[in-house]
Amino acid sequence: MREYTKFYIDGAWVDPAGGAQLLDVINPATEEVAGHVSAGTAADVDRAAAAARRAFASWAVTTREERIDLLQRIIAEYKRREIEIADAITEEMGAPRSLALRAQTGSGLAHLEAAVAVLRNYAFAEEQGTTRIVREPIGVCGLITPWNWPLNQIACKVAPAIATGCTMILKPSEIAPFSAYLFAEVLDAAGVPAGVFNLVNGGAAAGAAIASHPQVDMVSFTGSTRAGIEVAIAAAPTVKRVSQELGGKSPNILLEDADYPTAVAAGIRQVMNNSGQSCNAPTRMIVPKARMMEVSRLARDAAAAISVGDPATDVSMGPVVSATQWGKVQRLIKKGMDEGATLIAGGPGLPDGIDKGYFVRPTVFADVTNGMTIAREEIFGPVLSILGYETLDQACEIANDTDYGLAAYIWGTDPSQIREVAARLRAGRVSLNGSTGDSLTPFGGYKMSGNGREWGAFGFDEYVEIKAVMGFSNAP
Ligand code: NAD
Repeated sequence: MREYTKFYIDGAWVDPAGGAQLLDVINPATEEVAGHVSAGTAADVDRAAAAARRAFASWAVTTREERIDLLQRIIAEYKRREIEIADAITEEMGAPRSLALRAQTGSGLAHLEAAVAVLRNYAFAEEQGTTRIVREPIGVCGLITPWNWPLNQIACKVAPAIATGCTMILKPSEIAPFSAYLFAEVLDAAGVPAGVFNLVNGGAAAGAAIASHPQVDMVSFTGSTRAGIEVAIAAAPTVKRVSQELGGKSPNILLEDADYPTAVAAGIRQVMNNSGQSCNAPTRMIVPKARMMEVSRLARDAAAAISVGDPATDVSMGPVVSATQWGKVQRLIKKGMDEGATLIAGGPGLPDGIDKGYFVRPTVFADVTNGMTIAREEIFGPVLSILGYETLDQACEIANDTDYGLAAYIWGTDPSQIREVAARLRAGRVSLNGSTGDSLTPFGGYKMSGNGREWGAFGFDEYVEIKAVMGFSNAP
């Protein structure tokens, strides 16, 4: 049982201001309580904001080398505790061991390393005629993160915030807070100066207190579109910057000349990865109508190869994160059946041989039309919808006919055609034939998928203000 009830404020582990109000953290594979964190209140956020404000005065004026040095100490400490962090992720959100270690914990490390690489050359100042353009740290940052890729999302905010000279309050997801707690221990052991990084746990109330706080200069939020909108509304009266990484319903277009066995198998694996709980999952596979039967057969075979079970063992898919999420996924699977889509793999209920835990059967629907609920709503579970198109124009139209615009995927062999389709899609990340980019590739979405970009140098830009000093080179 993990009792992570303190907060990390001003360089010390402290008790919550109003006494501990405990939140249960459930292991989704067993449905049992795995530990507790405390629910932070506005008073805790006040305390963290004051500490971050005090620390800003000195951290903002540190040199590039001092920040690189700190990030390197964090990296060393993080590497030392990788296995422990991965175990915490498996326990809190059900990622199978190998996924938890390689992709989940590994992506956190990759963002820390990317921050060092970017920081070495990031242009904090440049000349434009006689004007000097300076990029200064924006101030105290509120970082609010979700449970699905917990350390990926924490590291891709904390690393650029530290690198640009900002101070911060992190409020991780109350559903998966264990790995965040270990991350705070890593920062503490690495010697982050008091007040530069603060951790307050809790749910929507703590998040809302950060979003509206007058001493918080910007909020970087990752989570649902619903909560992202609430954060922006709460932030508006203080005119702070709000960066949002929200939901998705990403299209995956298979062009006529694509390698179908490879593309379909890759599409299935990507949707089922992390139990379908990735904002950029390619959840709408858009294929020529005439090839719906062939694609369905390939998809059924690929789904059958996905093993589901105890995430502590060597399976491809663990449970979804919570009872709420399980219920939502079940409702949407039934909705797909009711609305007339053809169920070709999986379906409602627990997978065979499993009687406890929030496990979902890898599910695939064919003959989906873009008006159906399963083509419009983000399911955030292992469910793929396959839609048919007759012309290339129609494929692009279906792809863009969504409220979201985070990612898009295209498979084909004619380079000029896939590039032309890429240019027509309204999405922040377009992957051609399975390319994944790296941790310097900008991450973020069009439309209701969010505002702003994270990762690499684009992520740094979120954390700086731009100052134009005119007449700089003429100054006496
Ligand atoms: P969520 O929106 O419920 O919670 C996200 C975070 O916001 C949590 O820390 C939560 O405590 C906090 N929160 C909730 N309501 C709040 C409020 N009113 N004010 C301030 N903070 C609030 O999302 P979730 O269930 O944790 O994550 C799943 C969602 O996140 C999915 O919709 C997914 O697509 C999205 N997501 C997007 C990205 C991306 O980069 N675009 C990445 C991961 C997840």
